[in-house]
Amino acid sequence: MMSTLLEDLQQQSAEFIGIRRDIHRHPELAFGEHRTAALVAQKLEAWGYQVETGLGGTGVVGRLVRGDGKRHLGIRADMDALPIDEATGLPYASCHHGVMHACGHDGHTAMLLAAAHHLATRGRFTGTLNLIFQPAEEGGGGAVRMIDDGLFDKYPCEAVFAMHNMPGIPQGRFSLREGAAMASSDYATVTIRGVGGHGAMPHRTADPVVAAASTVMALQSVVSRNIDPLQMAVVTVGAIHAGKANNVIPASATLEISLRALDRDVRALLEQRIKAIIAAQAESFGCEAEIDWRKGYAVLVNTPQETAFAREVALELVGAERVTLQGPPLTGSEDFAFMLEKVPGSYLLIGNGDGDSAGACMVHNPGYDFNDDNVALGAAYWVLLAERFLKQA
Ligand SMILES: [Zn+2]
Ligand SMILES: [Zn+2]
Repeated sequence: MMSTLLEDLQQQSAEFIGIRRDIHRHPELAFGEHRTAALVAQKLEAWGYQVETGLGGTGVVGRLVRGDGKRHLGIRADMDALPIDEATGLPYASCHHGVMHACGHDGHTAMLLAAAHHLATRGRFTGTLNLIFQPAEEGGGGAVRMIDDGLFDKYPCEAVFAMHNMPGIPQGRFSLREGAAMASSDYATVTIRGVGGHGAMPHRTADPVVAAASTVMALQSVVSRNIDPLQMAVVTVGAIHAGKANNVIPASATLEISLRALDRDVRALLEQRIKAIIAAQAESFGCEAEIDWRKGYAVLVNTPQETAFAREVALELVGAERVTLQGPPLTGSEDFAFMLEKVPGSYLLIGNGDGDSAGACMVHNPGYDFNDDNVALGAAYWVLLAERFLKQA
């Protein structure tokens, strides 16, 4: 166990827990992370990093070059909050009504800042360290914006790593996974158009309500009949809207659909089958369907070599009893997936707490809070990972 490194970071942790709570108190939504980004940039500059702000909107990159090492490492944290009314009652609870750090991105930012400070003042490494603070992870695609803005052209990285806290896993336990680790997310809005009319004369109409109801039921067969039973997929019709009165057949009905998959081929098959079923269903009722298909986040795939390396770092830091080498995949989505489509790397989880502990409250819940015991531990992980990746000869 790397107890001295962890002890060092624990001694510094009051300052960074303070920063974490300050960010928590001032949460900002996707692409509105102006205060957070300014705070990050100001700290990094003070510690000697070369800093670029405004990359991909409100993204920040801090670069530190040391020695003549040729390797380039990227570590990424996210900065955005969620449109949730905080209900924790904590002294540092959000002062922005309706906005809350309910996913722990305040903690991810603080962990990486604590590591940045340690690496700048006492880090033993040679090469180039790129610390990436991205905006808009929560559905805004901040990673894509940063990549489109030249993130990996300006700051080439041989590998890139990121970490997310996870309630339900004991505090400080690390969980890694090679291969597909988080699901893709796609969305579709379906408008079924028929012919409206009098509710007492259905034969003079083409009823989109019946077509929509049948379509919802038919879509249930995609996962059960089209997808390999050993693969994972989710088809959820989360909203269905049509009509206003019991005696009026409306002219149209809409469905809102959410889709998840852990495999690129399954994702493609979902799209193909869902579009075919919707078109055929609508036609069979004399209606027409229009589908607005919106691609969300890609499947997050951790590459083997970098995941093996990330595991070794975790084992060295906390020992085998606190590391899950191959954890289960998650059906949630994460836009770090897009960085992993460009650069090899790995995304790992750090336990936020389990059982009856406060840290067990799930993310995206108004009662959630990041576990501050992870500030020092997460920072120690990043320091050790950077020092091992950018090893001195
Ligand atoms: Zn989230
Ligand atoms: Zn998150």
